[in-house]
Amino acid sequence: MSGLTHWDVVIVGGGPGGATLAALLARAGWSVAVLEKETFPRYHIGESLIPEVLDVLDESGALSAVDRAGFLRKEGGVFRWGANPEPWTFHFDEARERYRFTYAYQVVRSTFDQILLDHARASGAQVFHQVTAREFFEFLLPGTDQVGGRVLATGSDGEPIEFTARLVVDCSGQAGWLSSRFRLRKYDPFLRNVALFTYFRDATRLEGRDANAIFCEATDRGWFWNIPLHDGTNSVGLVTKAELCPKAGDRTEFYNAALQSSVYTRQMLAKATCVAEQRCIADYSYRPRRLVGPGYLLTGDAGNFIDPIWSTGIMLATTGARLAARAIGESFRSGTNAALLEYETSLQQIVGRYRHFIYFFYHTNASPSNYFWKAYSMVTGAADARDAFIRLVSGRLGV
Ligand SMILES: Cc1cc2nc3c(=O)[nH]c(=O)nc-3n(C[C@H](O)[C@H](O)[C@H](O)COP(=O)(O)OP(=O)(O)OC[C@H]3O[C@@H](n4cnc5c(N)ncnc54)[C@H](O)[C@@H]3O)c2cc1C
Repeated sequence: MSGLTHWDVVIVGGGPGGATLAALLARAGWSVAVLEKETFPRYHIGESLIPEVLDVLDESGALSAVDRAGFLRKEGGVFRWGANPEPWTFHFDEARERYRFTYAYQVVRSTFDQILLDHARASGAQVFHQVTAREFFEFLLPGTDQVGGRVLATGSDGEPIEFTARLVVDCSGQAGWLSSRFRLRKYDPFLRNVALFTYFRDATRLEGRDANAIFCEATDRGWFWNIPLHDGTNSVGLVTKAELCPKAGDRTEFYNAALQSSVYTRQMLAKATCVAEQRCIADYSYRPRRLVGPGYLLTGDAGNFIDPIWSTGIMLATTGARLAARAIGESFRSGTNAALLEYETSLQQIVGRYRHFIYFFYHTNASPSNYFWKAYSMVTGAADARDAFIRLVSGRLGV
């Protein structure tokens, strides 16, 4: 354990949001501690990245290590969704703007998250594994009128540990450390979904440049994602409405029946072997009552979660980390909270636009061009409807 107990920033959670924020702040010269309750590598769902993530990781300095990991390069997506009976395809490099990254990766999260957290440590952050944040208290920073945060945590053997900071950032993901403490979470009344997922070996993959694309297929019981991974497996998940999902013992049967009702996913898995137990996670979408309070700030899934249909989770967590890092630096320099409040407004605008698009996508059984036109009504500066859609699904809303 480090001798330092007072930090500029204490971050709770070492996932992509926390690790990216830690790297950005440490590289800017601030003292940073990351408290992570697990030992890495640890399993996590959420394997498909979109290009904007690469921009943020380039800025945090983590991208070269991610590039070297051997993850499959994802150039776009293939969707069987809406009124069109045939799958339709898009590629990130269709964007009219000359972006540096017009691809992303399909990542094994245990490896990816470890790379990001190792990079945070190499950037100067202190990372404490098997330390679980329990209590939070605000306090007046000595000699100032500024409020800081105190975290009471426990180590692996249950011993109490205390950390104090000018600001505590909750990056605890869906666990929602501060959200549950302060009752900040508001669940979305429409996007109340559940995901059932597992892994297959020897699945038939798409061809040509779409071999590494994400494939999503709507069925009458929900929709499937099918994500090829570099370890030879495919992550295949069913997202269904909470009220349709049966209780624990009957879920495999439900998943298999949904698979049989699919057209393409079933064919792609016809010769494949299931190689992992099935997992289930409630992926109810939610938003926070606030992202910033006295002595604390929330980012990543700790604040917002929106349905995984457009693979926006890690983009929002890392984009949130980038916005938070800028705001925290500005707030420390100015001695005011103005930048933190701007962070909240900016991030909520971005999340709000994706939520709005996802509502439309779920509720409109239309041709792909309707989805492109919807994107065009929401994305400023796009050359045309398809360009707007490509920008949106690449995570490019201009922050
Ligand atoms: C079914 C499903 C499919 C998804 N698919 C995708 C996808 O394809 N692409 C995509 O981009 N996103 C996807 N996501 C979302 C993505 O997984 C998350 O958005 C992303 O992991 C958020 O990162 P984070 O750092 O905010 O939180 P997390 O990655 O969850 O990290 C939080 C960390 O905090 C730690 N922690 C929690 N509580 C405490 C505590 N009290 N003290 C200390 N540590 C603590 C946890 O151990 C964890 O390591 C999916 C999500 C779901 C549910």
